[in-house]
Amino acid sequence: MSQKIILASGNAGKLREFQQLLADCGFDVIPQSAYQIDNADETGLTFVENAIIKARHACQHTGLPAIADDSGLEVDALNGRPGIYSARYAGTQASDSANNTKLLQELNDVMEDQRTARYHCVLAFMWHAEDPTPILCHGVWEGRILSTPRGEGGFGYDPLFFVPTHNCAAAELDKAEKNRISHRGIAMAQLLATLKAR
Ligand code: IMP
Repeated sequence: MSQKIILASGNAGKLREFQQLLADCGFDVIPQSAYQIDNADETGLTFVENAIIKARHACQHTGLPAIADDSGLEVDALNGRPGIYSARYAGTQASDSANNTKLLQELNDVMEDQRTARYHCVLAFMWHAEDPTPILCHGVWEGRILSTPRGEGGFGYDPLFFVPTHNCAAAELDKAEKNRISHRGIAMAQLLATLKAR
């Protein structure tokens, strides 16, 4: 019989990915919206704290194991900004395009070789709300911030995120390839390996 596990996210794309990935390990992934759970307040100062806050919140409200992710973009020339504030860089509820415009403005005077950046994704898996040892997985994807947007795919900062290994923007990659090489793909592969080895 499969084990129910809550995904602490309202994102339909993430739900599909987690369902496909974890079906192999005997998990039936259910979105927290099925339990009418609101999003947790992301009050942490690190991706790790926020991922744990979200997973714990889902465990507390359902009594079931939960998984959460927290991700964002770290830009070296901006001392790591936008970091954990990536979704709300240009303000609460900011659109992707407002965030991208702000990023380009902040990097206006920065030369190409100084525009190094990376995406991070931290996944937290908790068996219950008091789980003292959450499984934490961390994927990192290295790139550089372009001066003009490229491509139509992806979301968020993808039109500005140049992927040197593929010589294109993240928004120009096909979906399957992005999922394979991205920060989220890497963290998910780690989680799968950890759960399979248990
Ligand atoms: P969250 O972890 O889903 O809350 O995402 C945080 C924010 O980081 C997103 O709203 C995006 O701005 C940015 N981000 C995270 N992952 C990606 C990605 O794969 N592509 C583009 N932007 C991303």
